Amino acid sequence: MLKRYLLAPGPTPVPPEVLLAMARPMIHHRAPEFDPIFAEVREGLKWLFQTRNDVLMLASSGTGGMEGSISNFLSPGDKALCINGGKFGERWGKICKAFGVQVTEIKVEWGEAVDPKVVADALKADPSIKAVYVQASETSTGVSHDVKALGEIVKGYENTILVVDAITALGVFDIKTDAWGLDVVITGSQKALMLPPGMAFVSVSDKAWAFAEKAKNASFYFNFKKERENQAKNQTLFTPTVSLIIGLQEVFRIMKAEGLDKMFVRQGQLAHAMREGMKAAGLALFPKNSPSDALTTVCAPDGVDGQAIYKNLRVQYGITAAGGQDQLKGKVFRLSHMGYADRFDVITAVAATEMVLKGLGHPVKLGSGVGKAQEILMAK
Ligand SMILES: *Cc1c(COP(=O)(O)O)cnc(C)c1O
Repeated sequence: MLKRYLLAPGPTPVPPEVLLAMARPMIHHRAPEFDPIFAEVREGLKWLFQTRNDVLMLASSGTGGMEGSISNFLSPGDKALCINGGKFGERWGKICKAFGVQVTEIKVEWGEAVDPKVVADALKADPSIKAVYVQASETSTGVSHDVKALGEIVKGYENTILVVDAITALGVFDIKTDAWGLDVVITGSQKALMLPPGMAFVSVSDKAWAFAEKAKNASFYFNFKKERENQAKNQTLFTPTVSLIIGLQEVFRIMKAEGLDKMFVRQGQLAHAMREGMKAAGLALFPKNSPSDALTTVCAPDGVDGQAIYKNLRVQYGITAAGGQDQLKGKVFRLSHMGYADRFDVITAVAATEMVLKGLGHPVKLGSGVGKAQEILMAK
């Protein structure tokens, strides 16, 4: 028997209380008992997003939220500035092109965060840019971009909105949607929200709603204006993910019992312990600056194949991590500590990494990283 541990950056583990809530008999989404559940979840989303704006619930993976945040606000021929520092940043450009939007990309070296000054200069050079697209946490590299600084910059442009993919950021570290002027913020169910895959969530500011009034792109399934009208009445345009929404009600009860601040402190401590543990085991971290607290991207040591580390974690020890994508394939492996994670998830990850490396013939002192992680995790 091999006990399984899900430590990949999405999907992530789901708490047992949430699984049980979702196992309840199906109810009808137009029946009166769904109304208060939907209302409670709408409020919970505003709390998590730290916003007074509407937060729409969509039945799709996170990318549906990204697509809708292009098709609903821009028209063909409009200009977008996309920050591309990894696989998800690259996706912005691809979706824009599918909707006839003209893309200017700011290419960021993988492993680095965007320099906000570069964004400020690009907007100054071309104020006709309608929207700036960025990740708060670029999951392919494990780096977080400074969306607070970007909010300050974009605020100064009346005809430009800032769209933030916060899919591995919301619920992990502080994202102040309203206070930082983030016009559109997106998350998904299967990362820090501790739910199975299947939902995207999008908050929309008044400034962005004004863009939606003018946008001329075709949209049918992801029609934010119509969703807004329906969701204000605790209904959705089409059949909602009833079970996931019931699960989300339970997720918010768990999150509220801990509180946002304590949640961010716990997530930050787990990230810190994972990073320091890996370093103490002799490994280098991939991010050159501003590592995301959602996951840790670790470099495979010279002469060791990163894919072998990732594969052996799964085959020998039952741990599902993630490998590197594209140019990082074989060079890194990624371990998540977002969502339903605690101290022993980090210890498990560091311990198993040491064991896998030793098994692959790499000189590592067993316990060196674990000891360091334990020290950090015992601190108050
Ligand atoms: C997971 C993720 C997405 C969405 O991916 P889906 O597979 O569509 O859910 C988008 N952006 C980031 C940063 C992610 O981590």
